[in-house]
Amino acid sequence: MFAETIKKLERQYEIKRNQADAVFAAEKRATYEKIPELGEIDKAIAKLGIQSAKLSLYASTPEEKEKEIQKLQKEIIELKNKKQEILKKSKINLVPKYSCLKCNDTGYVIKHGMSEMCSCMRQELLNEAYNKSNMNNLKSETFESLDLNLFSNKKNPNRYKSELSPRENMEIIVEIAKKFITNFDKPEQKNLLFTGTTGIGKTYVSSCIANEIIKSGNTVLYQTAPVLLDSVFTYKYNNQNKNLYESLFNVNLLIIDDLGTENLTAAKFSEIFTILNSRLLTNKTKTIISTNFSLEDLSKVYDERILSRIIGHFSICRFFRRRYKIKH
Ligand SMILES: [Zn+2]
Repeated sequence: MFAETIKKLERQYEIKRNQADAVFAAEKRATYEKIPELGEIDKAIAKLGIQSAKLSLYASTPEEKEKEIQKLQKEIIELKNKKQEILKKSKINLVPKYSCLKCNDTGYVIKHGMSEMCSCMRQELLNEAYNKSNMNNLKSETFESLDLNLFSNKKNPNRYKSELSPRENMEIIVEIAKKFITNFDKPEQKNLLFTGTTGIGKTYVSSCIANEIIKSGNTVLYQTAPVLLDSVFTYKYNNQNKNLYESLFNVNLLIIDDLGTENLTAAKFSEIFTILNSRLLTNKTKTIISTNFSLEDLSKVYDERILSRIIGHFSICRFFRRRYKIKH
C-alpha cells in the first residue's frame, strides 16, 4: 500500500513543482520585460563566463590565467550584485515559490551523498495512510483561531476541583502547548498528557500542536488508542501494517488519542508501554497522550509502577468541562 501511495505522491509533487516552475517562468518574463536592464546584465554575465572558459584554454602562463580569471570572476559577482539590487529596489523576489524549501518540491533530499525522502513527503505519506481518516481538520486548526472567550472566567472550585477558572486553565494549557512546540527538539522537554472529559478541546489543542510540528519539518502520526493497538496486533500476528508499526516508534510526534476508553487488557497495555518506553529512550521523538480518564481512574486500571514511570516523563494538562460564557 505504501508503494502505491508513494507513486501517487510523486505524481502530485511533480505537478506541484511544474506549477511553481511555470509561475516562476511567467514572473521572470514579466519582470524582464518591465526592467530590460536585467536581460542585458544576464547577457554580460554569460559573455564573461565564455571569456573565462576561453582563458583557461588559451592563456599563455598559469599566472596570467589566474589573474585574468580572478578579474572576470570579480566582474561577474559585481554584475550579479547589481541585478539583486535592482530586484530589491523594485521589491521583486525572483525565486520559484516551492512549498518546501528543503526539497524544492521534489520530495527527496540528498543526505550524506544518498537520496532520501524529505520530511514533507514522509508526512504526506502518514497523512494519506493514517491521519486523514483520524484527524479530519488536521490542517485548519491553529491557536489563533482558538477563542478563549468561549471558556468561562468564573471560578468554581467545587465543580472543577481547581482554584482556576476554565479560561485561566485553558490559557495555561495553551502556554504549555506553545512551549512544547518551541522546545520540541530539546531532550529536556517533557511529553504531554491531556486528561479530561470528552468534547473540551483536547483534540483541538493536539491538532494545533500537530500543525506547528509539521510546519517545522517534523513528522506527526495521529492514532486513537484502539486503532493503534489493532494495528500492532495485526502486525504481530499477521505480519501486516509493518510501515505503521515502525512509524509508531520513529515518527517525531506520536499522538495517541482516546487512551483508556475501551477495555484495555494487560497485553494491550504492555504494547502501549513498549512503544512509550522505546520513544522515551529516543531524544528525537515526543508523544502526546489524550485520555478521558483522570489520573485517579488510570491508576485504578493500570499498574502503578508503569503509570508512575510514564507520568514522570509527561507534563499533565487537565481540561475542564467547557461552559459557554454567553449562556450564563
Ligand atoms: Zn520537502
